[in-house]
Amino acid sequence: MLKGKTAVVTGAAKGIGKAIAIAFAKKGCNIVLNYRNAVSEELIKIIEGFGVKCIAVKADVSNFDDAEKLIKTAKDEMGSVDVLVNNAGITRDNLVIRMSEKDFDDVINTNLKGAFNTIKHAGGIMLKQKEGAIINISSVVGLMGNIGQLNYAASKAGIIGLTKSAAREFASRGITVNAIAPGFITTDMTEVLKEEFQKRMIDSIPLKKAGTPEDVAEAVVFLAENRYITGQVLNVDGGMVMN
Ligand code: NAD
Repeated sequence: MLKGKTAVVTGAAKGIGKAIAIAFAKKGCNIVLNYRNAVSEELIKIIEGFGVKCIAVKADVSNFDDAEKLIKTAKDEMGSVDVLVNNAGITRDNLVIRMSEKDFDDVINTNLKGAFNTIKHAGGIMLKQKEGAIINISSVVGLMGNIGQLNYAASKAGIIGLTKSAAREFASRGITVNAIAPGFITTDMTEVLKEEFQKRMIDSIPLKKAGTPEDVAEAVVFLAENRYITGQVLNVDGGMVMN
């Protein structure tokens, strides 16, 4: 079903984004890898190894013009934009009384406005195609809140409202929009946390282990393939949050 389609994955150079790009390539999707700083030739070769096309596009998704350029390049080079995964994200943790205005703005601009920027441009293409799937990477922190992550939690909660609104706007054309809320996933983002904190986190997870980027990628592919789920938040968190 995804074979021959085009998937754009933001922040795909490493971590969860990289696993998502590989998972779509395995399904036969052509891949547009978005990166901010650098992307390895090795990753491009891994993806091409699945017999699909792969291009890497440098763009800062928090920048409106960069996001437009990313989506336009994807459409021009690949012919369509069928799946958009808004994965690019940053943290700038601190207690609110110590948090700088810049750290608040940077997190909101990347994690939340970045998704607006890409959806704004890809949405028009998908509406014309009358098909498409958008998956936004939120976080359990957007559902629960977290000490030291007011900016991040606000951005990830915002992603949920944005997802549900876009799902309602695009539903009549068969385009689905969903969010994934990962819990504690082993990547560079979590490896910077103190070992003691990581241990405490894992102890608090019902499944008693951290998730892998591949656990998240599998769920993203599922939401892209399924054509009757929209406006939902799927937790991939070992049971951290049970609604
Ligand atoms: P990561 O730091 O390994 O990867 C994030 C990627 O986003 C990097 O490649 C980075 O260059 C890219 N990026 C950052 N700002 C960008 C910008 N402005 N434009 C383009 N690319 C940009 O982190 P990760 O753990 O793989 O996180 C991926 C996503 O999953 C993020 O949205 C994160 O908030 C979310 N998430 C992660 C966890 C976790 O436990 N790791 C949990 C919940 C949610």
